[in-house]
Amino acid sequence: MASSSSHIQPKSSVLIVGAGPAGGLLAYLLAKEGIAVTLIERHSDFSRVFRGEGLMPSGQEMFRQAGLWQQFDALPHSTFQDTEIFYKKKLLARQSFSFAQDTLSPRFVSQPHMLEMLVSECHKFKNFSFIKGVRVTKPLYDTANPHRITGVEIKDKDGTHVTKADYVFATDGRSSVMRKQAGLETPHNPESFDIIWCKLPMPDFLGTDTEKKSVRVYFGNGHLGFFIPSYDMLQIGWIIRKGSYKNFKKRGIEGWIKEMSRHVSDDMAAHLQMHSEDFVQPFLLDVVCDFYEDWSVPGMTLLGDAAHPMSPVGGQGINIALRDAVVAANHFIPLLKTAAKASRLDRAAIDFATERSTEVRAIQKLQHRPPRILLGKGIWLDILVLGIQAMQKTGLNKLVFKNFRFENTPFSKGITEVKLKKFR
Ligand SMILES: Cc1cc2nc3c(=O)[nH]c(=O)nc-3n(C[C@H](O)[C@H](O)[C@H](O)COP(=O)(O)OP(=O)(O)OC[C@H]3O[C@@H](n4cnc5c(N)ncnc54)[C@H](O)[C@@H]3O)c2cc1C
Repeated sequence: MASSSSHIQPKSSVLIVGAGPAGGLLAYLLAKEGIAVTLIERHSDFSRVFRGEGLMPSGQEMFRQAGLWQQFDALPHSTFQDTEIFYKKKLLARQSFSFAQDTLSPRFVSQPHMLEMLVSECHKFKNFSFIKGVRVTKPLYDTANPHRITGVEIKDKDGTHVTKADYVFATDGRSSVMRKQAGLETPHNPESFDIIWCKLPMPDFLGTDTEKKSVRVYFGNGHLGFFIPSYDMLQIGWIIRKGSYKNFKKRGIEGWIKEMSRHVSDDMAAHLQMHSEDFVQPFLLDVVCDFYEDWSVPGMTLLGDAAHPMSPVGGQGINIALRDAVVAANHFIPLLKTAAKASRLDRAAIDFATERSTEVRAIQKLQHRPPRILLGKGIWLDILVLGIQAMQKTGLNKLVFKNFRFENTPFSKGITEVKLKKFR
């Protein structure tokens, strides 16, 4: 790469900043249509960052539409049969997830493998290039039109470089530098909770068949924890009130295990204690659920978490990012293929944001609710639990939930129709 402030010859008409699910799928869809794409990723190794792994049918469907189903299906994954919900250590309910044969079911998919698969599929096109291990620091503005973004500045071990393109997509995630530098940052709303995340060996009591495992949810006394049998290990997401992480750090891993053990069932508590030495690097995830008012400036649009950071609730962020990529492809491909005028690209960015806002806003609204209810300590939570128990005793729950099918919920199938267009 050329040294400080020199200009790299543009290799592409499109730059995509960030190779997460949004950037990776968008790169593939554009490259497949012959558009010259440069994808830039800060990390040189996908496995080094934490990434959520739950993928709902609404996201998986995007791989099917992109013609990547076989590759996606071959990735390491697990599916689950039911969710066991525990209240104050005791089993409260078991919700089974029966899916019709021809429908997709939620799965936990290795994110590093998924992103590597997307990039390797992109490499099949000569018009694609991937720059990894470099950090994009800011947008580059047109000298003739200082309001228009025409590239990015990147930093690597050799210094600062610039690279130009006809259009820039910022898919650099929740803390997007491109968003900030382009002046699209607005005050944001952190959620009231954070998550401590870690992995440990899988217990047999959650099922030994990778296709038929049980997810466990523990709540009560102001605590909420998810125990998810992933494709390789058991993942724990332990919800804590925002700002309380320093208390956990003070107590150390042993203190945390002790604390969790007080709120989970006996079999899980024994498993935690038995594997106290095997916890894989617990770390704090700062949770936000945000929606930026403007997703574009001339020459650049945001998508995925860069436009609307998603909470982990309901495993929605990856799905939404993949669906953003498909809708962006629908709006931009016809224009990029015909080298349309800049003003038409800017119009497409606004149409894209308008189309995606409906689903993103509605899903985020649904994401806000469950933690607020389940983390509660008040009498209303006890009343709710008593109501559920009474329904179970009388069999009323079977009647009430007779027609409930997870596959018909917005978390499973999405809210708006997202269909990849055919391009000629
Ligand atoms: C605790 C937690 C658990 C979650 N679990 C789930 C789940 O199970 N299922 C689900 O669907 N969603 C989950 N989510 C949400 C999900 O992770 C995100 O919504 C999703 O990854 C967004 O995809 P994206 O492509 O927009 O951004 P990201 O996945 O964040 O990708 C952005 C990419 O840009 C790169 N990048 C960033 N800055 C730069 C830069 N300056 N230069 C170059 N590259 C850069 C990053 O390295 C990264 O690869 C979870 C979120 C959290 C916090």
